[in-house]
Amino acid sequence: MKHIVIIGGGYAGVYALKELIKNKNIKITLIDKHTYHNLQPEVYDLIANKGTIADVTIDLSSLCSGFDHPFLEYKNLRVTDIDYKQKQISTAEQETIKFDSLLLCVGTRTFFPQNIEGLNNTNDLKKLHKALYFKQNFEKQLFNKIEDEAKKCDKTHIAVVGAGLSGVEIAAEMAYYANQFFKRGSFHCDNFKISLISSRSTILPDFDPKMIQMSSQRLKDLDINIITDTKMQSCDKEYLYLTNGTKIRYSFIIFAGGIEAANLILKSDLPKNKKGQILVDEYLKVEGYENIFAAGDIAQVKDRSGKIMPANVTIARASGISAAKNILNQITDKQLQACNPKLEGTLIALGGRYAVCDLYGLVQVKGFIGHLIKQYVFFRYKLPLIQYIKKGYNKLSSKM
Ligand SMILES: Cc1cc2nc3c(=O)[nH]c(=O)nc-3n(C[C@H](O)[C@H](O)[C@H](O)COP(=O)(O)OP(=O)(O)OC[C@H]3O[C@@H](n4cnc5c(N)ncnc54)[C@H](O)[C@@H]3O)c2cc1C
Repeated sequence: MKHIVIIGGGYAGVYALKELIKNKNIKITLIDKHTYHNLQPEVYDLIANKGTIADVTIDLSSLCSGFDHPFLEYKNLRVTDIDYKQKQISTAEQETIKFDSLLLCVGTRTFFPQNIEGLNNTNDLKKLHKALYFKQNFEKQLFNKIEDEAKKCDKTHIAVVGAGLSGVEIAAEMAYYANQFFKRGSFHCDNFKISLISSRSTILPDFDPKMIQMSSQRLKDLDINIITDTKMQSCDKEYLYLTNGTKIRYSFIIFAGGIEAANLILKSDLPKNKKGQILVDEYLKVEGYENIFAAGDIAQVKDRSGKIMPANVTIARASGISAAKNILNQITDKQLQACNPKLEGTLIALGGRYAVCDLYGLVQVKGFIGHLIKQYVFFRYKLPLIQYIKKGYNKLSSKM
């Protein structure tokens, strides 16, 4: 019996798994260092108290149990090394796992450039425990302001470095939340500032100009201080130093300056682009390898015209499904099918019930309708998994 291993139970891995289970005559192992799939784009809801950890995670044990495949196993392990020739995986927990075909869906991590001094004083939101730490810290900052009401009311200054999608969305959500907080409690000590720092001449570089204009306007309405053409130079425990010669006395820094491949992939001999993403062919097979596939953020995915696709949920899901189909095709001697993912549009959540959306490059909407569209798109992602999670949960609970 062929043994297929998926490393990474994120957007790409989970949807690949949903495809692989259609073949009941293979052994499947899903490995993830976490016990949950982190719904990263929804982490703002957690920070803004619109949801709990339960709303931004999917339990991988329940999901896998619900999939009802006779030879599916989920292993909560951290992969440390892969011998691609011997087809063997090593883990931090000292397990070794052999495979016939491997699908790499390990995602990416925040890129911390080595030349910026003091980056250890900053935080990123890609990891759930870090997002939770930030949420608690953010609330503590707000609480400190209430405590300061009758005293000096010092400025609280949160700096977000990087004005791509993640940086813009988190700055907007925090600003909205803080504004509401002060208003609802009638707290007058609202000396609270958020600065968003972009190394380019605009926020959201490479996005459609209309989307940039609509998003910039919203950020200004939320009183966010946008600093452009400026990079973070260094920071110490008190100040953030910028290349425009200014310094910010910060309360908290979020670093959202880009992504890079995980160490597991960076240190491997697999072919990679400058960001460390694995080079794959149109079937998502790693170039030069017969039984190794990659999907999601970790792969340089292209559409049929050869255009490189952005690293996002839509592409992760589509490439995961496509890679899984091709693994099944390969082991059953069928022809492989080229992956041709399509972008449905761009959705940017901008605090509270406000988002801007570009649908298929045809229609652009903003405000509450944009928010509803974004909610719908993310719910549509979760919806096909819900029945499996519930089924798996009931199964596991009845065994206890
Ligand atoms: C704050 C934030 C907001 C975002 N907002 C949006 C948005 O609005 N829209 C959008 O489309 N995209 C958004 N994204 C991007 C989106 O989350 C990613 O494109 C998506 O998560 C990629 O899916 P993936 O399956 O490739 O990787 P991931 O979802 O990152 O999953 C990778 C999995 O691999 C596991 N793993 C990694 N290394 C190992 C190892 N060595 N051993 C075992 N397991 C391992 C991890 O635990 C993880 O579960 C956002 C990202 C962030 C961080």
